[in-house]
Amino acid sequence: MTTSTSPTSSSSPLDERLAAVRAGIADAARAAGRAPEEITTIVVTKFHPASLVRELAELGVHDVGENRHQEAQSKAEELHDLDLRWHFVGQLQSKKARQVRGYADVIHSVDRSSLVEALRSDDGDLDCFVQLNLTDDTARGGVSDRDLEPLVERILDTPGLHLLGVMAVAPLGEEPRRAFERVREASARVTTLAPSADMISAGMSQDYAAAIAEGATHLRIGTAITGNRPPHG
Ligand SMILES: *Cc1c(COP(=O)(O)O)cnc(C)c1O
Repeated sequence: MTTSTSPTSSSSPLDERLAAVRAGIADAARAAGRAPEEITTIVVTKFHPASLVRELAELGVHDVGENRHQEAQSKAEELHDLDLRWHFVGQLQSKKARQVRGYADVIHSVDRSSLVEALRSDDGDLDCFVQLNLTDDTARGGVSDRDLEPLVERILDTPGLHLLGVMAVAPLGEEPRRAFERVREASARVTTLAPSADMISAGMSQDYAAAIAEGATHLRIGTAITGNRPPHG
């Protein structure tokens, strides 16, 4: 992959934003002494039409993220001809869990035992992350710090789930690097229980460089690549 950002005559704004973010990721990885290839970039396409996801696929994007079940399901259906990995990154109601299993390749938002139970399956393992709540607001998605180990144990004991690691959103008002340092510490606790669950899903449009510096393996980037999201209800 080249990190050159020089636009060709046929490049679109989408193409240019994607190239700029890829270059930014490569720079941040090098600054952290990491290989850019060890970092997966998920383009979060929520609120954008399926046609934009198709354009992204034509530009070589393989991993896409959505945060609402119905929207994700209909896009995945419409684009089933493409070789995409669908990442579900939003809060997930237990009663929708079984349906999300139908199209999602990875769920980033496992945050409570009732959801683990709803995702239980004998039909193969679905990749997942445990979402951490880095705030004191229990209405936010994510497991609280003190419930992390029990939830991880529960996932490890439940057929149908394969734990990849931890996921988090940096809280507003906290220095992102500091927040991602806490994520790295939580990741170390998880790998004590599950040595192979060493992935970290962290970093969005505004803070991906800080996340890379703290070990993120999966970035979830929306607007920096897609442009502003269209208005939604
Ligand atoms: C929307 C969303 C993102 C992407 O946010 P941007 O600021 O547009 O990059 C990442 N993670 C989650 C959980 C999201 O809902």
